[in-house]
Amino acid sequence: MGKKVIYIAGLGLIGGSLALGIKRGHPDYTVLGYNRSDKSRIIALERGLVDEATDDFAAFAPLADIIILAVPIKQTIVFLKTLSQLDLKDNVIITDAGSTKLEIVAAAEKYLMDKSVQFVGSHPMAGSHKSGAVAADGHLFENAYYIFTPSKLTKKSTIATLKDLLSGLQARFIEIEAAEHDRVTSQVSHFPHILSASLMEQAGEYAGEHDMTNRFAAGGFRDMTRIAESEPGMWTSILLTNKEAVLERISDFKQRLDRVAQLLSQDDEEAIWNYFAQARQTRKEMEIHKRGGVESFFDIFVDVPDEEDVILEILELLRGTSLVNIHINEENREDISGILQISFKNAKDLDHARKVITDNTDYNVFIE
Ligand code: NAD
Repeated sequence: MGKKVIYIAGLGLIGGSLALGIKRGHPDYTVLGYNRSDKSRIIALERGLVDEATDDFAAFAPLADIIILAVPIKQTIVFLKTLSQLDLKDNVIITDAGSTKLEIVAAAEKYLMDKSVQFVGSHPMAGSHKSGAVAADGHLFENAYYIFTPSKLTKKSTIATLKDLLSGLQARFIEIEAAEHDRVTSQVSHFPHILSASLMEQAGEYAGEHDMTNRFAAGGFRDMTRIAESEPGMWTSILLTNKEAVLERISDFKQRLDRVAQLLSQDDEEAIWNYFAQARQTRKEMEIHKRGGVESFFDIFVDVPDEEDVILEILELLRGTSLVNIHINEENREDISGILQISFKNAKDLDHARKVITDNTDYNVFIE
């Protein structure tokens, strides 16, 4: 493929990280950027995320072979409309990065149908609570799912071209219908954010009357409420653009809560036991201990004593390995053997880790 001009609108966490990944895979491509604020534009130029940057969205669009809209969902829809009024390159590919897909795909079909453009929705499924070009990370999408949601403007070659463009991200590409994307993410992402925020709201009020609440809130509560720290603006637009699916999940969940309340008020011990046993079994089968449900990480669990420098001792043994994550399980849980959980990128390093830790320490080592 010849040299291409890529235009990324929105040089925030996602746009900036995509730019780095594109440059890694295709150092010869020209990457142009749009950002409305000076700050991220200047950082993007300084960090070499883009070759040139503008604060006028329409300025670079006609130069591009591929346009990526990495702005909030509502603004993505505004820019799709703007693009319909611009003189773009023939057969230009347009995509986005929005966390919900149905409204964006519908807007692209509405505004761009009469133009010679290709459009496919995109959702790179990785992120963090950070934002802006300063947070851009070329490794953000490694092993993450990168979802394409085709539209009436998607050709056979559209997704293939984008996969090639984005090869440097080392993501896992997958295609799914936009409506199904929004339904599945309502269950595993959008609704859990509501639950987490509600739990936080409830506990916050409770703490006003019971001052030990904050002190007793331990690992389980922290796990359940971590995502309540997410950026409110992004989550507001996610809910508003996936209203139907989220409302349906809320209504389903209310019935489940009512059922547990009923079992409890009836002192139905067996049914309550079964309820927990079923949830535990389902969680084990879902393999969600692994990052993003992706079986690309290889975990080792080490039972270490609570002593000074013990973690440093283990890390020293693991020098030179592809260690990607380290987690200290603060609570003893029945379903996890070992306090220290270390993740590697490949099975070879996992085997090596098991051997060096077993040979050099007395700690018990487990592999799930
Ligand atoms: P960010 O805040 O880091 O960057 C947002 C960018 O959009 C910035 O460049 C900002 O200047 C620009 N922007 C915001 N409002 C604008 C407006 N009204 N007009 C023009 N530009 C505007 O956010 P991000 O995390 O990079 O999110 C970008 C997109 O990626 C969103 O659609 C979001 O749903 C999606 N997304 C986010 C995550 C995540 O976890 N952060 C994950 C996957 C997808």
